[in-house]
Amino acid sequence: MGIYKAEAIVLRTRKYSEADQLVTLFSRQRGKIPAIAKGVRKVKSRRRGGVQPFTHGAFVLYEGRSLDHITQGDVIDAFPALTADLDRLAYASYITELVDGLVEEGQQNEKVFLLLLTTLHLMTTEDPEILTRVFEMRLTNFLGYCPELDSCVNCGGELGTAVRFSPELGGVLCGRCLSHDPMAARLTPATLAVMKQLLKMDLRRLGVLKVNQGIRSELEKLLNRYLDLRLERRLRSRDFVITVKETGSFSDVVVNVEGERCDEH
Ligand SMILES: [Zn+2]
Repeated sequence: MGIYKAEAIVLRTRKYSEADQLVTLFSRQRGKIPAIAKGVRKVKSRRRGGVQPFTHGAFVLYEGRSLDHITQGDVIDAFPALTADLDRLAYASYITELVDGLVEEGQQNEKVFLLLLTTLHLMTTEDPEILTRVFEMRLTNFLGYCPELDSCVNCGGELGTAVRFSPELGGVLCGRCLSHDPMAARLTPATLAVMKQLLKMDLRRLGVLKVNQGIRSELEKLLNRYLDLRLERRLRSRDFVITVKETGSFSDVVVNVEGERCDEH
């Protein structure tokens, strides 16, 4: 059985047995790898730090019959700022769960890897909500289903003023084609302009992008619906984001997400 190295980010950890942990890695070289880390749940384990959520590390694995085994994990960056701030923790949990939910096992995608890594770095300093919207837009783009934003997704024609967004059809609808998706949501020109900017802007300039509350809410609603159609399960971390936004504090939901991250079978 082969031994291999992988530069990876820890997407998710779960209890496997008293001493062992199931770890989902997202690697630059092989995409998503479900693996087992033996002995790391022991309090004294030196490798414990390498298999915490969000950790960017250099891992050594060997191929097992069903699951690969992590034998070594050197931490490159553990992003302590993310776990110290509830807001950032919620959004970071959401984007890693999104990658876990949308990327198939064995689907290698270096662009997605670098997007996740860059976003985790920026998440320690930038506006986490806007950064998350950038992440969602670019992730769909790199996975091949970016919403159509430039011309009507149904007729290909110019958009005009009465623009709607259809998650089902995969993009914007012009006024003439509204009947093709009566459920399509209204999309204001300002929100459409921000969506395009999120896709192409230089991330180092993210701080200068000012987005008002109305546009933030519209973006969140539209992109959540768009992604829900492509996900096979409900993301628990989205509830975490909502709770933190509404209450700004810990709650039962947070406890559940935390529990799921380390103690659930
Ligand atoms: Zn049309």
